[in-house]
Amino acid sequence: MVIDCHTHLDDDGDADKLLQSMDEAGIDASIVIAETLPGDVSNVVQVLDAVSRSDRLWALVNCVFSKTVELKYVEELTRLLQEERVVGLKFYLGYEEYSANDERLHQLYEYCEQHDVPIMFHTGVLEAGSTGLLEYSHPLQVDRVATCFPNLNIVMAHMGNPWLIDCAAVLAKNQNVFADMSAFFAENMPITAHDVKVFKQRMEQVRVFLYSYQKFLFGTDYPLYSQREYLGAVQALEMEPAERELVMHANAARIFGITTS
Ligand SMILES: [Zn+2]
Repeated sequence: MVIDCHTHLDDDGDADKLLQSMDEAGIDASIVIAETLPGDVSNVVQVLDAVSRSDRLWALVNCVFSKTVELKYVEELTRLLQEERVVGLKFYLGYEEYSANDERLHQLYEYCEQHDVPIMFHTGVLEAGSTGLLEYSHPLQVDRVATCFPNLNIVMAHMGNPWLIDCAAVLAKNQNVFADMSAFFAENMPITAHDVKVFKQRMEQVRVFLYSYQKFLFGTDYPLYSQREYLGAVQALEMEPAERELVMHANAARIFGITTS
């Protein structure tokens, strides 16, 4: 069983291509990130349509920070969270230049904590030329939220890469924080044998510190990567069988409440 906890629809919003990619890779279920601004690629209308047509797809809704001042927007988010197959919220932090601990978000965090809704933060690098700020996408951003909301499950997207060890420190300290392995490689490029070698070396340092990958989740960031190639890279990591189960599906199934037949 394999769950990819981090995907998007492509520019065409084509869920069939994602499902085909999953078949080719041997991936059972995928979580698709849905943007809530009209006109965005992989937007909520497209993603909700996709998850309503396939029991292998689940949705994670992006919260646009600048819109959270609008009561109507927050109501819309909480309404979306009640939709079937919508499993959590995503926050872009650095790209939108806000602190994870901004008090204006506390009400949403409280809602998520009370309703057992997990949240995902983008952590790590921002695209070259981005006008966002890296200080807000550093893994240490997550520590205070995790501490203030101990029953809120948090996934750090991209493991805070290149700050993998900083990410590991946050994982080690906070029982409610996890990290997805997505988007480690150069975007829109084949993943080479050399890339896999570097990935294994850098991940091994994380494992030396944490003793295991038990707080990680398999994720790709499709369509920026081939799911088949990405799965091959993660499978190349040394893991105990029980650890591999957690990474490949059990963590995602438990945190996001995903059931697969
Ligand atoms: Zn992504």
